[in-house]
Amino acid sequence: MKMNRRLFLGTTAAAAASLSAPAVLAEGHGKPNVVVIGGGPGGATAARYIAKDSKGEINVTLIEPTRTYFTCFFSNLYIGGFKDIDDLGHTYGTLAPKYGINVVHDWAVGVDRDAKTVSLAGGNTLPYDKLIISPGIDFVDGAVDGWSLASQNAMPHAYKGGSQTELLKAQVAAIPEGGIFAMVAPPNPFRCPPGPYERVSMVAHTLKKTNPTAKIIVADPKANFSKMALFQEGWAKHYNGMVDWIGPDFGGANVSVDPDAMTLTIDGETTKVDACNVIPAMKAGRIAEIAGVTEGNWAPINPADMSSTVDPDIYVLGDSANQGDMPKSGFAANSQAKVCANAVRGALTGSRVFPAKFSNTCWSLIDTNDGVKVGATYEATDEKIAKVDGFISSTGETDEMRKTTYEESEGWYAGIIADMFA
Ligand SMILES: Cc1cc2nc3c(=O)[nH]c(=O)nc-3n(C[C@H](O)[C@H](O)[C@H](O)COP(=O)(O)OP(=O)(O)OC[C@H]3O[C@@H](n4cnc5c(N)ncnc54)[C@H](O)[C@@H]3O)c2cc1C
Repeated sequence: MKMNRRLFLGTTAAAAASLSAPAVLAEGHGKPNVVVIGGGPGGATAARYIAKDSKGEINVTLIEPTRTYFTCFFSNLYIGGFKDIDDLGHTYGTLAPKYGINVVHDWAVGVDRDAKTVSLAGGNTLPYDKLIISPGIDFVDGAVDGWSLASQNAMPHAYKGGSQTELLKAQVAAIPEGGIFAMVAPPNPFRCPPGPYERVSMVAHTLKKTNPTAKIIVADPKANFSKMALFQEGWAKHYNGMVDWIGPDFGGANVSVDPDAMTLTIDGETTKVDACNVIPAMKAGRIAEIAGVTEGNWAPINPADMSSTVDPDIYVLGDSANQGDMPKSGFAANSQAKVCANAVRGALTGSRVFPAKFSNTCWSLIDTNDGVKVGATYEATDEKIAKVDGFISSTGETDEMRKTTYEESEGWYAGIIADMFA
């Protein structure tokens, strides 16, 4: 096998190197080692299920730099004033005492596939028998003309959880009377296909209450988007005249921004804006690239167990994976993590492995108690994770049905958080 050790250079690694690294001990000699990179719905769920179900037969280490995971899911509801920031933050405190997971707060910066080790920014090296990579997304350099990561404070993406979401909410609150909120929407595929449009709804909800003459401009490179008819119906019903969605036929794909001047240019026409949410094109989290398991922007996987097509001892979950028909969502990552955990346990301990089955639902809130959803079940075929059947909310549904859909989403949120952290 080709030697594949590369260094993770850049600002994140530099910042991470200043963290004090906890001692990493190779406890439980003789037991197989599973290392999981990333403590989101993919990684945390996989670590928890492997540790819980193997009952001490497998050493599980979870590497995650942050001590509090702020969910992107429901972050739009925070922008809309339906949730507090504390509702979105969850810690890893239960995973060590309850399941014996070695939780290491550090960055994984290198993967040596020959030696089967992961190196950490703090200097330690961890051996693995099986490695699970679930680092979420990073952004494609140069995807939006005029924008780079250096501009993320002036024009936040708010597409990773926590401080970016808080910043965007503060910028919405600071829009002057009658001012403009702009969004540059991303091309497919990207995490949470309805996410930008739920965000438009939640910004509109806030502005309608605090700044009703403000306007929202959305520049979109896509002619169609997830739950489009439902969102457009909802915008007309609740926020009539406030949202100007500009698709590719009207220049939505021909966009540049100037973060210093706070301008957005669509098809040569420049507008001064008061807040600008730039959501660039996405790719697999950098560590997947460093491990050498990506092809193009994403990591190809074997759908039956989520193992990498490049290396059978590495599994890639969630947003970083090429997930076939599944959308990139927290629900999807959590569903894939259970398939992967079952397969990894089977491979290491001989426990029974069940056929892969996946499911997903994406809920979105348009206005108070006006929830909509789209979802499907999936199976593993030789080529891809393939859709079996699906459902979607209808336009013109009753208020009662929409309220029930919103309540379902709250139940789902509590459930996935418990599945990751409880
Ligand atoms: C606005 C918005 C709304 C959304 N709403 C929904 C929703 O309603 N429902 C839904 O299902 N999904 C939703 N999503 C999508 C969901 O957040 C993602 O699909 C999901 O978080 C993906 O899980 P993941 O485990 O792949 O990655 P992540 O959740 O991003 O987790 C990756 C983790 O890996 C860590 N990491 C990265 N690199 C390294 C490294 N080198 N070393 C160690 N750790 C590393 C990160 O710190 C992070 O904690 C939404 C997303 C957004 C942006």
